[in-house]
Amino acid sequence: MFLKSQKIILGVFLLVAVFVWRAVFVGSSGLLLVSFLDVGQGDAIFIETPSGKQVLIDGGYGRQVLSRLGRVMPGYDKSIDLVIATHTDSDHLGGLIEVLKSYDVRTVVENGFQDNSVLLAEWNKEVEKNGARREIVKAGDQFILDNGVSLKILGPFSEDIKETPDKSNEVMVVARLVYGETEFLFTGDIERGDEIRLASSGAELKSDVLKVAHHGSQYSTTRLFLEKVMPVYTVISVGKKNRYGHPHTETLSRLASIGSTLFRTDYDGGITFMSNGRFLSLRR
Ligand SMILES: [Zn+2]
Repeated sequence: MFLKSQKIILGVFLLVAVFVWRAVFVGSSGLLLVSFLDVGQGDAIFIETPSGKQVLIDGGYGRQVLSRLGRVMPGYDKSIDLVIATHTDSDHLGGLIEVLKSYDVRTVVENGFQDNSVLLAEWNKEVEKNGARREIVKAGDQFILDNGVSLKILGPFSEDIKETPDKSNEVMVVARLVYGETEFLFTGDIERGDEIRLASSGAELKSDVLKVAHHGSQYSTTRLFLEKVMPVYTVISVGKKNRYGHPHTETLSRLASIGSTLFRTDYDGGITFMSNGRFLSLRR
């Protein structure tokens, strides 16, 4: 039996143990963390705010995202606040279905696109089973994730939603994460047309970190768009020796011409950016 004072000491030890355990995983509590997970040919970006709110943007193709999340989240943590599906292609949505099976998700953010595909049927089923709240977003929406941390939705454009698109990537969820003086731009698989519309929309695009659109496809990452974003760092989420030839040499030379530092998940693996609201640091 424990005396009261022993209980208090034990409590303090447990608190310290939990803190150390968290520190091992998230590395730096009180910071905004943005991790580009290596999920092969696909996208998966994990965000943790200074107070611990968690967001996952896309999930790659299959179950790989689960082991990657295990590296940035402690094993006991089986909940995610916000899961964002930029669109319904399998290299973005496939892994999110696996995430829904394994994590308690509070809110799911979608572009609202629906078709008769097996993938979307499974997604709909798993969202329902999970009990997550569904939210369809459009340009102008905003999520306040934490004190001073906001996620501003820049796409899809509302006129595209009204016209009932044929393809999910015509209504891509594009989002800009801002914490103090640091910004991250997440572009999903947008192509030239959407980049030009974004660049002329008047929306603030300037960002320290740009998730290069569509795995470095030649049809994205236009010079005009890059000049608006002016990223210090760029990240291409791409599979080794993928059959699409991503990233394209033309895209790589456009990126080189703006002088940003490039990371590629096929060469560099996952990469985590940390922001204190003023400065960025990174961990590989
Ligand atoms: Zn993709």
